Amino acid sequence: MKKTGKSPLNEILREAGFRATPGKIAILEALFKADQPLTIAEISKKLKNNLDQTTLYRTIQSFVEEKIARALNFNDRSIRYESLIDAPHHHHVICKKCNYVEDVDICGANLEKLALVKSKSFKAIESHAVELFGTCNNCLKKN
Ligand SMILES: [Zn+2]
Ligand SMILES: [Zn+2]
Ligand SMILES: [Zn+2]
Repeated sequence: MKKTGKSPLNEILREAGFRATPGKIAILEALFKADQPLTIAEISKKLKNNLDQTTLYRTIQSFVEEKIARALNFNDRSIRYESLIDAPHHHHVICKKCNYVEDVDICGANLEKLALVKSKSFKAIESHAVELFGTCNNCLKKN
């Protein structure tokens, strides 16, 4: 998603209740600058200092809890993370061959209405998680 970056990352960290340490800023920056959601291993590769994976994982979990990042599960055993800073609500299309992920500016809100019409046990839907799968143009070309 296009990001405008209204406030610097250290300010965003402080507003979310964190101490803006160089390590946290670097992790948030890696997520913020990425053009697609990243796995822990991919984030780790982008960081210059050798943070151990446990610290990295815990830090990202705390970002998710404070809602400056979110975790995404595309059914391939890797959890991916993306920054929620200046990111409007959107969904993803994932390539089934190479796992390339593209942000798409669509919403499944109509599904929530449809679910309420069909549901027998729910009067309200609070959120939704919709991911879409396909084969990206690069992988199509290779065949
Ligand atoms: Zn692909
Ligand atoms: Zn996204
Ligand atoms: Zn949506």
